[in-house]
Amino acid sequence: MSHNKNLQFDSKCVHSGMKDYEFGPVIPPIYQTSTFRFESAEHGASLFKGEANGYIYTRMKNPTVEAMENSVAELEGGYKALGCASGMAAISTVFVTLLQSGDHVVCSKSVYGPTMTLLHSVLSKFNIEATFVDSDIAEEIERAVKPNTKIIYIESPANPVIAITDLSSAAAIAHKNNALLVVDNTFMSPALQQPFKFGADIVLHSMTKFLNGHADVVAGIVVVKEEEMYSKMRKVLNQLGGVIDPFNSFLVHRGLKTLSIRMLRHCENAQLIAEYLENHPKVKWVRYPGLKSHPNYLVGLKQHSGHGGMISFELKGGFKAGEAVMNNVKLCQLAVSLGGVETLIQHPASMTHLTMGEEARKSAGITEGLVRLSVGIENVKDIIDDLENALKKIPEKEMVG
Ligand SMILES: *Cc1c(COP(=O)(O)O)cnc(C)c1O
Repeated sequence: MSHNKNLQFDSKCVHSGMKDYEFGPVIPPIYQTSTFRFESAEHGASLFKGEANGYIYTRMKNPTVEAMENSVAELEGGYKALGCASGMAAISTVFVTLLQSGDHVVCSKSVYGPTMTLLHSVLSKFNIEATFVDSDIAEEIERAVKPNTKIIYIESPANPVIAITDLSSAAAIAHKNNALLVVDNTFMSPALQQPFKFGADIVLHSMTKFLNGHADVVAGIVVVKEEEMYSKMRKVLNQLGGVIDPFNSFLVHRGLKTLSIRMLRHCENAQLIAEYLENHPKVKWVRYPGLKSHPNYLVGLKQHSGHGGMISFELKGGFKAGEAVMNNVKLCQLAVSLGGVETLIQHPASMTHLTMGEEARKSAGITEGLVRLSVGIENVKDIIDDLENALKKIPEKEMVG
């Protein structure tokens, strides 16, 4: 609806993507259909020619999916969006659309693991090369650029130490070198950070995380700035086939309505927990964008309006201390993923990164006492009590260093 353009962000969360549907529902109906009937041969022909406005087949376009896509595009301040089956489907669609054999990508070293593997092990088969850099240092990005660089790919903040990249600097480097800046905005969501404002050309998300926010959907999205890129990418997505389905779109669209207030609480809770941990005698260091001790605290203040829900911290007792905390939390649930209303906790050395071994962990920056927390929207007192109790259970003999 056109009046949306003048609304504040919180109001857009509630209203964006909505159209007039038959019977006047206040929520977009779920068009759970694979295909759409044509009225006549002529109608079918005009739809295929793109002359009539309507729907043909759900992989190509579906009203429920379209409503959610329009909502996310509006929240990010983009032109249009493409709903995908997962964050990885969104990321691979972007790479396949923009790259060809002989091209080069500069990517954050601290990028989401499967994104790195996609570049390393899959796209390399098609003669696409990638350089991984500490993107929180702008000079490192600049140094890695080559004449055939087509994409600078940034995640900010990013795992494992919540590294913050200066988006404006990355955009300037990309544009000076005729490359595009692609930003994975999963950790912040448009409620806290809108990368288009800092020069990004494409913004994408794992909607599995904060956008849906309820840990019950796997989904992704790509947001673009103009029609030419949109139609190019829509064609590729249609051929690759990694589209989101109507029911998941409906759930994500429902989640978006509370994005703004959820993010407020995530930020409020995470700030208090980060400060609590920073003052705890069993904690060596804490990384959270809202702490002045964060090396890129000032860069963060320029580009996000809240500091998010993700915290990393290092326990003084290393591996054993990490295990003790994992085995003694009760409210915080041991699980990968992030961005839901419930608090999740993860110890990479004994869980996701156990099998790679201590040496490989060390070179990947995964220290033995590293814990990652996705702070939920529970009452903060309950989360802190839970952590306090678990930290107490670390055996005294592990308390060295
Ligand atoms: C989870 C995640 C992805 C991948 O998304 P899926 O929905 O799991 O495919 C990509 N980027 C970031 C930053 C993520 O956290």
